[in-house]
Amino acid sequence: MTPHTLLWLDGHIVPYTHTLPLGTHTLHYGTGAFEGIRSYATPQGTRVFRLQDHIKRFMYSISAFHHTIPWQEHELCDAVIALLRATHAGDCYIRPIFFLGDENIAINAVANKPHIAILAYAILPSETVKSLRVCWSPWRRVAATALPLDKKLTGTYLNSLLAQTTAIEQGFDDALLLDNEGMIAEATAANVAFIEHNALYTPPAKNILPGITRDTIFKLATHEHITAQEISMPPARATKAQSAFLMGTMYEITPIASLQDIQYDVQHPLVRHFIQEYRALVTGTHALAHDWSLLI
Ligand code: PMP
Repeated sequence: MTPHTLLWLDGHIVPYTHTLPLGTHTLHYGTGAFEGIRSYATPQGTRVFRLQDHIKRFMYSISAFHHTIPWQEHELCDAVIALLRATHAGDCYIRPIFFLGDENIAINAVANKPHIAILAYAILPSETVKSLRVCWSPWRRVAATALPLDKKLTGTYLNSLLAQTTAIEQGFDDALLLDNEGMIAEATAANVAFIEHNALYTPPAKNILPGITRDTIFKLATHEHITAQEISMPPARATKAQSAFLMGTMYEITPIASLQDIQYDVQHPLVRHFIQEYRALVTGTHALAHDWSLLI
């Protein structure tokens, strides 16, 4: 994905070529918070999926730093919309990021100025993944007692980078990480679900980032009386499933073709159903879409 030539920075739309000082606190210590949001080109125009929920989580993630920022939730939603309009975006990945300036190089960032940037990346149809070959990560998910996993903090993603790089070096697309207790946690930037006999099982929220896509799938399942349960699963449980998929803003609902030597049914009717329903939601044609899909 290539970034758009314009971005939103601290209240203004500026060229992407804007540079940052090398003393920027976030560069040294991973002291940032971010979001990943999707917009979709539809026959009615560009639609953004669950924008308010993403910005709400963004504010919650930023709260980890105890800095006051001069923007309210609705102003950041407006900023995303302004950027999408300025860039004539259709299918897009939107990346808001909170970062701290270069005022001090101490670990504590009391003196460092908070900033917010919003970037937009055009998504090409060729960048859509159809199914995934996944391995177990040799790296465990960082413990929820070490970092707040329900906040999207830049530093936490070193854990994801190690897991994904190892997977790619071994010829896989992505990795599943176990949590600190040895139970299945999540992928590097997506939640995981397993299908056993037409019921959906996914790890509980305590040791993962409980994603907005995961929440969407739960609500879809409830709406359609499909069993969906949070359950702690040891890795051996993965062999009992007929099908599995990753869910996240970028992956949307992507079937897992294999997990190490376990083969899954990528054409499983329930997985195909969730893929179709999710597409209908994000493009604004599903009955539940009107709360979530914003036409800009
Ligand atoms: N887990 C992790 C670690 C992630 O980075 C993401 C992507 N934000 C997810 C799960 C899925 O979250 P969402 O559905 O909100 O994109």
